[in-house]
Amino acid sequence: MDTNLPISAQPRVVIIGCGFGGLRLAKALRKAPVQVVVIDRNNYHNFQPLLYQVATGALEADSIAYPIRKIFAGQPNFFYRMADVQRVDPARNTLTTSVGDIRYDYLVLATGSLTNFFGLESIERNAMQIKSIPNALNLRSYIFQNFEKALLTDDPAAKQALLNIVVVGGGPTGVEISGSLAEMRKHVLPKDYPELDLRAMQIFLVEAGAELLGPMSLASQADAKRYLVELGVKVQLNTSINRYEDGKAYFSDTEFIPTENLVWAAGVNGAEVPGLPPEVVARNKRINVNGWNQVQGQTNIFAIGDVANLVSHDMPRGLPMLAPVAQQQADHLAANIQRLLRGEAPKDFKYLNKGAMAIVSRNKAVVDMPGNIHFNGIFGWATWLFVHLMTLVGFRNKVVAFVDWAFSYFSSDQALRLIIRPFNRKDMMDDPGKAKAEHRTATPEYTPAPPAIQTPVNA
Ligand SMILES: Cc1cc2nc3c(=O)[nH]c(=O)nc-3n(C[C@H](O)[C@H](O)[C@H](O)COP(=O)(O)OP(=O)(O)OC[C@H]3O[C@@H](n4cnc5c(N)ncnc54)[C@H](O)[C@@H]3O)c2cc1C
Repeated sequence: MDTNLPISAQPRVVIIGCGFGGLRLAKALRKAPVQVVVIDRNNYHNFQPLLYQVATGALEADSIAYPIRKIFAGQPNFFYRMADVQRVDPARNTLTTSVGDIRYDYLVLATGSLTNFFGLESIERNAMQIKSIPNALNLRSYIFQNFEKALLTDDPAAKQALLNIVVVGGGPTGVEISGSLAEMRKHVLPKDYPELDLRAMQIFLVEAGAELLGPMSLASQADAKRYLVELGVKVQLNTSINRYEDGKAYFSDTEFIPTENLVWAAGVNGAEVPGLPPEVVARNKRINVNGWNQVQGQTNIFAIGDVANLVSHDMPRGLPMLAPVAQQQADHLAANIQRLLRGEAPKDFKYLNKGAMAIVSRNKAVVDMPGNIHFNGIFGWATWLFVHLMTLVGFRNKVVAFVDWAFSYFSSDQALRLIIRPFNRKDMMDDPGKAKAEHRTATPEYTPAPPAIQTPVNA
């Protein structure tokens, strides 16, 4: 039953997910008198904040991932099973997984989040998302495949749709990917595709709200928008894409942007695990937890990071879905589990906000620090690079990322524009958490867009 996990006299803490929260928690329990079992469907930790750089050819996929077993080599109380967790049974303290059942004494959900398509079926079926390394590699291959296709058509409307890129969602991911694509259009594509008239290529960043970078300061919002506009990105605020099919991204019943490249970065839901009572699952599929990250109504089940819905007086919609939140909750929970083992009362979690940042392009980033401190430009950019380099997991990854960035900076080039996995929209739903067989069969083969009447979006 126990998938060959060793029997131990010590209580077993099972952690689902080795993202920012799960990894940190398993490390923090290194010296605790427990057996730590980590389950993840991938055998690597994925540094999601740099996924967009893999998607735009700035970094190799291998430099933002790190093998889980290597991270924990030498930690005697650590065990890993590569598996998909399908269900939790709180009455039996057991998980159903793709490799068999696993018993726990304490369970920690650190499953992160999944792309939220807000029930927009055509977008879920046809858009590209950016939550995983396969997503990022697909996005890169797909965009470059479309440039290759654009060379082969004489139909101006079809060519336009193949070149246009629409990014939906004006949060940090949408801002960062649009800026990076605009830089690629300026520095890389003219060298690679001298036969294409790249003036026809438009990059749209579409945001339903009135501002980019919603939770950041007004100064950061304004700077990011200005940087993007200077790079030629068409920023469309107060605009919602509600349908995407046949190469048309609709923002009303009849008005659309012709595009074969739609990147959906408009929101996420908690990656809940079935089996918990329905009342603990909040509206955005995050799991309701109390101040010690204990799941509502459960004594030995906890949730941390993106999947945890920890509501407080000053954060009525829950803590932000950010890596530092997951890491701080992991450290705190490790201490609380040890308190519980000693028969002591756990303590409430308090989030320490260390600031937020977003990069737009070379020498252009925005940074907000506690105390209303805001800075931008080259200083913001250097800060962004330093923080991301330092937080990447593994010395090799830091070196490789540094070399790739230095090469791009001095050559204005991004070396990694390989189409390594010829790809079409039928393969889009490659995330095991989201895979839907009917989408694989129902999506039509790629055909160039029919001549589209482009309705200009509000300037
Ligand atoms: C493109 C992008 C850019 C981002 N940029 C930033 C940024 O600049 N700064 C910032 O602070 N945050 C950023 N974030 C958010 C940040 O990555 C998340 O807040 C953080 O990863 C949350 O950590 P976590 O441990 O909760 O989940 P994750 O890091 O998402 O880890 C979840 C893990 O659980 C595994 N898993 C999930 N379900 C199952 C299951 N059923 N069975 C087995 N395994 C499972 C997954 O494989 C994954 O390894 C970004 C996110 C994205 C997608």
